[in-house]
Amino acid sequence: MAVLRLILGDQLSHNIPTLNDTKEDDLVLMAELRDEATYVKHHKKKIAFIFSAMRHFADELKAAKLNLRYIQFNELQDCTSFTDIIKNELNKSTYDEVVVTEPGEYRLLDEFINLEGKIGIPVSIYEDNRFIATEDEFNQWASSKSKLIMENWYRMMRKKTGLLMDGNKPIGGDWNFDKQNRKSLKKDHKVSTTPLEFKPDKITRQVLSLVNNEFDDHLGDLEPFSFAVTSADARKALKYFIQHQLPYFGDYQDAMLSGEAFIYHSVISHYINCGLLDPLETCKAVEKAYHDGSAPINAVEGFIRQIIGWREFIRGVYWHYMPDYKEMNFLNARNPLPEFYWTGRTKMNCISEAINMTRRHAYSHHIQRLMVTGNFANLAGIDIQAICDWYLAVYADAYEWVELPNTLGMALYADGGLLGTKPYISTGKYIKRMSNFCDSCQYDPDASTGESACPFTTLYWNYLIRNEKKLRTNPRMALSYRNLDRLNATDKAEIQRHADFLITEIDNI
Ligand SMILES: Cc1cc2nc3c(=O)[nH]c(=O)nc-3n(C[C@H](O)[C@H](O)[C@H](O)COP(=O)(O)OP(=O)(O)OC[C@H]3O[C@@H](n4cnc5c(N)ncnc54)[C@H](O)[C@@H]3O)c2cc1C
Ligand code: SF4
Repeated sequence: MAVLRLILGDQLSHNIPTLNDTKEDDLVLMAELRDEATYVKHHKKKIAFIFSAMRHFADELKAAKLNLRYIQFNELQDCTSFTDIIKNELNKSTYDEVVVTEPGEYRLLDEFINLEGKIGIPVSIYEDNRFIATEDEFNQWASSKSKLIMENWYRMMRKKTGLLMDGNKPIGGDWNFDKQNRKSLKKDHKVSTTPLEFKPDKITRQVLSLVNNEFDDHLGDLEPFSFAVTSADARKALKYFIQHQLPYFGDYQDAMLSGEAFIYHSVISHYINCGLLDPLETCKAVEKAYHDGSAPINAVEGFIRQIIGWREFIRGVYWHYMPDYKEMNFLNARNPLPEFYWTGRTKMNCISEAINMTRRHAYSHHIQRLMVTGNFANLAGIDIQAICDWYLAVYADAYEWVELPNTLGMALYADGGLLGTKPYISTGKYIKRMSNFCDSCQYDPDASTGESACPFTTLYWNYLIRNEKKLRTNPRMALSYRNLDRLNATDKAEIQRHADFLITEIDNI
């Protein structure tokens, strides 16, 4: 019995269930597909990273003597989808079964579920074993709760993995040290280190040339390209992070600084999400740094929470609520995506910094995604699908299972609070406190009206007014509404007038 085994671009792990019990007659199939590279206009660096990592992984499979067919971009012009390449393979040889591990996007799962009817042989879809919790585990937990609280899920995952646990008790006496993790950086702070960089080898150089020729109209700088593209190098990047950045990761997790894209973040999400790093092994390596005395508890706990807490929770939410989740638009946000999300050309210094970092690195850290580009999109009522597609396109770590709940749920509150207990919104004052962006901005974060008013500040108050019916009753919004109630009717009218002006003139602000 010969099996056709399909490996997707984010399944570059040797223990992926697709490869279980591979026999001599089986064929492992990998392909660089036009549909996948273009269904949103992915950042050039993201495409180069995935294609190069795929080619390196394919070489490792060949070295392990697996029978492999690797289809390079443009090799089969008529085959643009997974269904096409499978049909193409079945026209050449006979197989009794197709196997694949479940993809990270609902649209592909749908394609694979319907594949059997199109090709006439069984298609087995295996559960992805690269997560700490199974989908069933999340669904069971979620269906017994009236409200999904990440912190409760996280504690369950701590107990399940035993990470930072002393029996049934959390090491350090607390489950969560987030209160210590909100320090800003002084203006003259020099971030002492950047992520480990890797020189492109021959394979990567070939891919860079391909991307340069084929995806010239996609966003972003292709070079310098310094990502790891093998599991061995991704591990080196993780080790380097643990030695150099982890000790400061907690303290400055929410800080932003002009010209500093990475601060003390790990910059490994793209490695974990495509299979080059294993999430549990990553957490164990980080936990070891605490036990060795080389990193403090607030850093180690904070990091582990992001992976076994947030990352797993986000994934659970995606599969639990899809496909309806993608259609949600609780606050009826429908304004067009401003051009500056692509160009970075705006007078708002914080947005310009965040987008230019994104253009350069296919990366920006969590607080920039949440409290700068996300916050602005939410306050300005930008169309949910447009902004989700933007996030999916521009980050090297973006796949829908992780991008969508983070954007639609966490940043935009379009799910009405399924994922978070309240909208993550702020005036410019938060950005002023956590960064030095406002120092060289022509706007004033403290002003809500007038020519120099910070658009974040004006739009924040306008957001509260505009969405009052839906948000005032939320107990976690009580303080915000108490502050709004301090404004008199004239102030409110002026804020609304200025907000209308900002939305109308959005491409010129
Ligand atoms: C609007 C928005 C969109 C986002 N889109 C993505 C996305 O497409 N892909 C993605 O991997 N992350 C996404 N995130 C989550 C987070 O911003 C990134 O995981 C993080 O910035 C990656 O950088 P890092 O590796 O330096 O992370 P660190 O700050 O060093 O954190 C360590 C690890 O924790 C995990 N992690 C942290 N926060 C989250 C989270 N909220 N959800 C899932 N994993 C998390 C990541 O694996 C990350 O590598 C998004 C967040 C927001 C607010
Ligand atoms: S003043 Fe407002 S727009 Fe300018 S950097 Fe600060 S928060 Fe951003």
